[in-house]
Amino acid sequence: MSPSKKNKKVSASVAIDYSSFADKCVEELKVLQDNLTNEYDLDWYENWFYNHATGLLTFSTGDKELNFRYFDVGSYSERSKTWKWSWDNTSTPDEIKEKTQLVRSFGERSNFPKLITGQFESNEAESWEFAAIATKLSNGIGVYRPVNDKQLMIFLVITEFVDNETAKNIKDRYVKCSTHEYRRRAFVCRHLNATTKVGFEEAFETVEGMELLEDDDFQAWCNECEAVRLQEGEWNDKSMAFARIKVVCEKCYFEMKALNLNTDI
Ligand SMILES: [Zn+2]
Ligand SMILES: [Zn+2]
Repeated sequence: MSPSKKNKKVSASVAIDYSSFADKCVEELKVLQDNLTNEYDLDWYENWFYNHATGLLTFSTGDKELNFRYFDVGSYSERSKTWKWSWDNTSTPDEIKEKTQLVRSFGERSNFPKLITGQFESNEAESWEFAAIATKLSNGIGVYRPVNDKQLMIFLVITEFVDNETAKNIKDRYVKCSTHEYRRRAFVCRHLNATTKVGFEEAFETVEGMELLEDDDFQAWCNECEAVRLQEGEWNDKSMAFARIKVVCEKCYFEMKALNLNTDI
């Protein structure tokens, strides 16, 4: 075989036509959507709620709940008639959009401009194509398009079912802060606050956004509490009663840490 022939064969096998690929993904998504709706009886649920912090999409009726993990693909704006991939959206948290990198790198390999351009003119039908492609590349089980804003359509790829106990464990680790919305929970003594330095002792060395083990939580207390703890020799009823631990959000925790330790957040 001559080298030129060989090269030709390789390039031919790599090249895929964008629109036939997108069509195939849309067809596959239709089947997935039917399966999802039937298997989980999605139409039965009255309410839906998605939370970028926990990464959970929850359907509910009364106290009956159904949870899935999801990621945010992107959004279509009816106002500007543009599609925006979530990786191009600075307001979308990293954890909830990192899977769209699969689409982007596939787009780079295949030379599909629409999969590698952050924002461009588009339409609703094409937005479904993007969601279908993202589903295909991430092995998703379906797409959910929450209808909360007619001007901005958000597309979520559902990646897996989560049983109620696991979902509760995940949700328990988050709090809704009045300033920072949903964040991981953290524990601090009653004396720690956002304005006055009172010292900052931690259960272990922490950095914001770090991964925590199942049993670990962010925990901090002030100098006074540390004195009582050392006097008692441990965290016991007396030192705990003095500290009166409260729950704050992760962001508040690291703001208190920065204030007390004079570091930048
Ligand atoms: Zn304290
Ligand atoms: Zn907060």
